[in-house]
Amino acid sequence: MAEEKSLNFIEEIIEADLKAGKHTTIATRFPPEPNGYLHLGHAKSICLNFGLALKYGGKTNLRFDDTNPVTEETEYVESIKGDVEWLGFRWAQELYASDYFPQLFDFAVKLISKGLAYVDDSTSEQIAEMKGTPTQPGKDSPYRTRSVEENLKLFAEMKAGQYRDGEKVLRAKIDMTHTNMLMRDPILYRIKHAHHHRTGDAWCIYPMYDFAHGQSDSLEQITHSICTLEFVPHRELYDWFIEKLEIYPSRQYEFARLNMTYTMMSKRKLLQLVNEKHVNGWDDPRMPTLSGVRRRGYTAQAIRDFCDRIGVAKRDNLIDIGLLEFFVREDLNTIGARRMVVFDPVKVVITNYEETKTEMLPSENYPDEGSTVRTMPFGRDLWIEREDFMENPPKKYFRLAPGQMVRLKSAYIIACEEVIKNDKGEVTELRCRYIPESRSGSDTSGINVKGVIHWVSAKHALPVEVRLYDRLFKVEDVSEIEGDFRDYLNPDSLKVQTAYAEPELGNAKRGEHFQFLRMGYFCLDPDSTHSKKIFNRTVTLRDTWTKDKK
Ligand code: ATP
Ligand code: MG
Repeated sequence: MAEEKSLNFIEEIIEADLKAGKHTTIATRFPPEPNGYLHLGHAKSICLNFGLALKYGGKTNLRFDDTNPVTEETEYVESIKGDVEWLGFRWAQELYASDYFPQLFDFAVKLISKGLAYVDDSTSEQIAEMKGTPTQPGKDSPYRTRSVEENLKLFAEMKAGQYRDGEKVLRAKIDMTHTNMLMRDPILYRIKHAHHHRTGDAWCIYPMYDFAHGQSDSLEQITHSICTLEFVPHRELYDWFIEKLEIYPSRQYEFARLNMTYTMMSKRKLLQLVNEKHVNGWDDPRMPTLSGVRRRGYTAQAIRDFCDRIGVAKRDNLIDIGLLEFFVREDLNTIGARRMVVFDPVKVVITNYEETKTEMLPSENYPDEGSTVRTMPFGRDLWIEREDFMENPPKKYFRLAPGQMVRLKSAYIIACEEVIKNDKGEVTELRCRYIPESRSGSDTSGINVKGVIHWVSAKHALPVEVRLYDRLFKVEDVSEIEGDFRDYLNPDSLKVQTAYAEPELGNAKRGEHFQFLRMGYFCLDPDSTHSKKIFNRTVTLRDTWTKDKK
């Protein structure tokens, strides 16, 4: 049964609205700008918007905020849709702010007609100069007193393409002395002779974010328009448009952006990492993008659980990436099939085992009772982990050592009898004896050993590439970096090596998750070919987040 959780502040507002009969159902939207790939911060917003609609029986639209023709691309639209679906959500409608260009134009005409908007011929520098500062009032533009007729004519001419970029803008006529700078006659439309990914060359004037966003909410009758804290000062303008245009009263609510340690959530900076090849693309498993973490092996379930756990904050904070890893481990512990892979091999030769013999030994895929099994070939020559042997072990070292016994997982107990070294004194081979009656599942040896180690048959081992990831940045709080953030990238964020896998991993498929015993959780990377399997380490087994911290 789900734990009783207290309501977050947005849920409180929604429940009050529903109770007061203000709405009978709710409508939310997720409004990405298609100018990059989605990251974990967007996942927070997606889980919040879609989660609220699911909880209260409402709907969520996916609306592409594509009012800026210059930075947007169709490639991003497709990846965003794929990411939202992967997270497990279905939108009611797929919409584009650009589809509203005709209505937005009409809204602008309505404001002009009401004497609430005017065409300004000032340059952007002049406009900035007249804007004032937070402590000083702004000045009225000399074009502010133009007549409604003249404004209507000029605005129609702007739309018809009679002016060049920057020659004119349309501004709201509010108050140049307003304490909220955003209310000082904000720009509604600017001229941009640019090709748009959907409307092509139909328009050469484009609405500004503030003029497009709220009105799009209104046209879709979004009841609760949820955005991040930087939009708090925009709310006044959002409400002003609704009031003056007399349109559906959507309401804006703000919550804190998700920031996480050792990474950053800015499409612009992530784009820079990609373009400058600090990472191998948007879906590099070190990236906080959804395509990156998916490739790394994070599950949608883990991300949803994480977003649920962190809740909705009203103040900016920094979340430990270890908390997300905790949820990834929780999920992978259940769904990750167990496999054996040796990363740093040393040879074991079982002297009392026939050289040509191979036994197929069953081993559980999952730790729970009654789990399915696969079989692993066992033979005379094996690989074990170099660190699972110590020539001069301290007390309480329960793995292999001269004269000491250890259990090979799902196989036999072996005892080390002789250590062979090369000229440099490095161990090259461990000659061992096995106890035939100690076979797992039918052990009648009566011998009790404490240590259990993983192994693979040397003759059957499948060499695979493993990619081991670490933090993308060396510093915890990337937002506090002064100077160039690229100087703080972790140079050891990727380590590539060969490892020796049990043959079953030759059948690994994309989307499957594995626990390589004692080594971490892994998944197949798309760079794999038929002859070369590549595995990404999703996360280590080490658990720094204990249950009681949860
Ligand atoms: P970025 O700064 O990375 O470009 P953005 O806010 O410009 O992010 P949008 O495409 O405009 O990206 O965002 C779509 C939605 O996702 C918005 O409602 C935005 O508030 C939300 N969002 C973006 N980043 C975060 C974050 N770090 N935490 C929570 N929500 C976020
Ligand atoms: Mg944005």
